[in-house]
Amino acid sequence: MSRDIARREEYSEREEPTCPHCRIRMEPAILTVHFPRDHIPGRGYRCLKCGYEALSAGEADRLSDLAKKLGLYEPAMPMVRKITRSGKRLSLYIPKDIEETLNLKKGMKVKISVQGDRIVIEP
Ligand SMILES: [Zn+2]
Repeated sequence: MSRDIARREEYSEREEPTCPHCRIRMEPAILTVHFPRDHIPGRGYRCLKCGYEALSAGEADRLSDLAKKLGLYEPAMPMVRKITRSGKRLSLYIPKDIEETLNLKKGMKVKISVQGDRIVIEP
């Protein structure tokens, strides 16, 4: 019985999803899936028009399990950054790794707070 279910899931994963933005069929693609410590490739779909990417639920679960086994959810080693000044205010550049891991975009709002002697920035 479980074999039948597995086969059916494979079949539904083969059906190409539609881009929610462009309403066109997405093409199968190898996607780069980011975790705090590293990234791993996964089978998914990409919209050739806008670049929107999607993973099937099954593949997302598989990658999540793999990332747990590999310890990719552990926080990466802290990176040292220098505080700079922009006009009258202090500023800090966000490392590219963190930008990609959290899918940060220009103009996105974040919450910044102090916890003890730490500065916490939350997307
Ligand atoms: Zn699209």
